[in-house]
Amino acid sequence: MIIHLKKNIKEEEAKKIAKLTESIIFKKNNFFILITPSKLKIPPVEFKNMIADFFPMENDMQLSSKKYSKKTREINFNNISIGGNSSNTLLITGPCSVESIDQISKSAEFIKELNLTTLRAGCYKPRTSPYSFQGLGLEGLKMLSEIRKKHNLNIISEVRDASHVDEVIEHVDIIQIGAKAMYDHGILRKCGKQNKPVLLKRGFGSNLKEFVQAAEFILSGGNENVMLCERGIRTFETYTRFTLDLCGVSYIKEYTNLPIILDTSHAMGYSYGVPDLTRACVAMGIDGLLIESHPNPKAAKSDASQQLDFKEFKKMFNSLKPIAKAIGKNII
Ligand code: PEP
Ligand code: MN
Repeated sequence: MIIHLKKNIKEEEAKKIAKLTESIIFKKNNFFILITPSKLKIPPVEFKNMIADFFPMENDMQLSSKKYSKKTREINFNNISIGGNSSNTLLITGPCSVESIDQISKSAEFIKELNLTTLRAGCYKPRTSPYSFQGLGLEGLKMLSEIRKKHNLNIISEVRDASHVDEVIEHVDIIQIGAKAMYDHGILRKCGKQNKPVLLKRGFGSNLKEFVQAAEFILSGGNENVMLCERGIRTFETYTRFTLDLCGVSYIKEYTNLPIILDTSHAMGYSYGVPDLTRACVAMGIDGLLIESHPNPKAAKSDASQQLDFKEFKKMFNSLKPIAKAIGKNII
């Protein structure tokens, strides 16, 4: 159950109630919010006078539930908003990894040419093998900061483990938590303690309940700005890299208040399928897309087979606009 305490309740008192109800507590503007285990359906009578509002919940999908907030959360960064009242579909692109200042500058110029707003590239790469390119780390983040300043773009980059969360937060506008880190409670809790938007990817072996509950770790830390990212799950199919769970996307839209971003690049794993899949995703009415693009995909140091070159990306982008328009969305 989610409990909103009255505005006049002091921290000490609020913490006492939290302890007695085994709740997580955080402060929103000028009042405290408690989240009790979902089995509690009625607030204890002794606290009745201190409670402004309460929301009984069926399960531990609480802060993310449409039962708590009917509207999709609005996420704002710089001059952009997604979710809420906005009709925007945020088209996020960039290479899988920052490789050099020349490469990332070309990507930034390409994004500007298309009048898009948001560049994503990884500096701490969670690779399957320790012998593959691991990313440029802090050096890469500094390149992204330079690009942000020069081109006035929003920057997204990934946190691989809790040891460099602060570094990433300092250099980005949106923090990405990757599929392999979805269960990293060090990262989740740290991201819950600050306000920058978080793009949380679904672990490829996780069901929807586990995915949404990972988001609850961030939300219940007090960070309201969480976006979910479906990037494909592992099935018995091996001809494509993963299987994009569009049924799951419908579930998320119906039952959660979190914006949903679709990553067709990692789901498909091969560039040939990305434009078709992306068109299908836009038609579903989603809040954003994450598509990898690279000035020279063949030479990419990670995820080479799935990244679109600029010509392919532009062609796909032009084909998305009428689809978005037909369902009342605007690609930014
Ligand atoms: C990535 O976004 O480049 C990435 C590594 O993706 P995922 O975490 O979805 O595997
Ligand atoms: Mn990648």
